[in-house]
Amino acid sequence: MLSVVIPAYNEEKLVAKAARRVSEVLAEAGIDYELVFVDDGSKDGTWQTIKAISEANDNTIGIHFSRNFGKEAAMFAGLEKAGGDAVAVMDCDLQHPPEKLPEMYALWQEGYEVVEGLKRSRGSEGQGHKAAAGLFYKLMSKATGFDMSGASDFKLLDRKVVDSLNSLPEKNVFFRALSYWAGFKTATVYYAVKEREDGESKWSTRKLIRYAITNVVSFTSAPLSLITVLGVVTLIVSVVMTIVALVQKIIGVALGGFTTVIILLLFVGSIIMICLGIIGVYIAKIYDEVKGRPKYIISEMSGHNASGK
Ligand code: UDP
Ligand code: MG
Repeated sequence: MLSVVIPAYNEEKLVAKAARRVSEVLAEAGIDYELVFVDDGSKDGTWQTIKAISEANDNTIGIHFSRNFGKEAAMFAGLEKAGGDAVAVMDCDLQHPPEKLPEMYALWQEGYEVVEGLKRSRGSEGQGHKAAAGLFYKLMSKATGFDMSGASDFKLLDRKVVDSLNSLPEKNVFFRALSYWAGFKTATVYYAVKEREDGESKWSTRKLIRYAITNVVSFTSAPLSLITVLGVVTLIVSVVMTIVALVQKIIGVALGGFTTVIILLLFVGSIIMICLGIIGVYIAKIYDEVKGRPKYIISEMSGHNASGK
């Protein structure tokens, strides 16, 4: 059986449409499936719609979060509750084309354990957004050692992969990169990002920046090494400046130079501040992990295993 995990946040207009489209495609391809809708604490009627669909269909389950925990948490809740031998994850806004699912499923049947959906085009995004995304994926590709340009959350995973992801103890998860990190036999499927069918993107610029920082920090400690490099650079500069200052003192032209002092003070001061900031980000993440709070809290479930697994 194939489980399709669909995270939804304020998508009341699209939940029913997504359920219908995915069902149509999979039924036509003769694939046995279940739908796992995860309502990420929506403020609109999303949960009521999911509940109604799951009560009317035996093959649909609904999970309702107590508040908005974010898409990563929603996807992991879906992976946890999915019962299929293969599990696909896709967006509720139909930007990930359901028509690709049979192709991904066929690859899985051939023996591939991870089928990555790669974006062929990024759809209608602004230039600034594209540039920022480009930089982020460059950093992530360096951090993970895999080419992550075009990576997305549209994937199909074998039960083995799902179980290994479920067993990770960390709280700051980045699904997109973890499937690369996990390894396994991988195939790729290319798709064109479609226009959102309805509603608007749930990501504000602030949310995206926070998301980028969290994910870079969770995959690499390179920024910490950068601090050491900065330290060495400032040390070299200060050695040169010390020699210059001493020579000036000895030959008796040491007066003046007030501007240099101010510039140096500000320069060194700001580098120290930036470094403290970088260390702070890592400490905050360590603190988050150490608290050991769950990734999400489920307040209600509906559908054939509403009692929970
Ligand atoms: N989503 C979610 N929780 C959030 C934000 C988004 O579950 O806090 C879901 C959303 O309902 C959609 C998917 O994640 O199914 C992708 O979101 P969106 O389309 O807003 O992102 P974009 O396609 O613009 O990257
Ligand atoms: Mg979208």
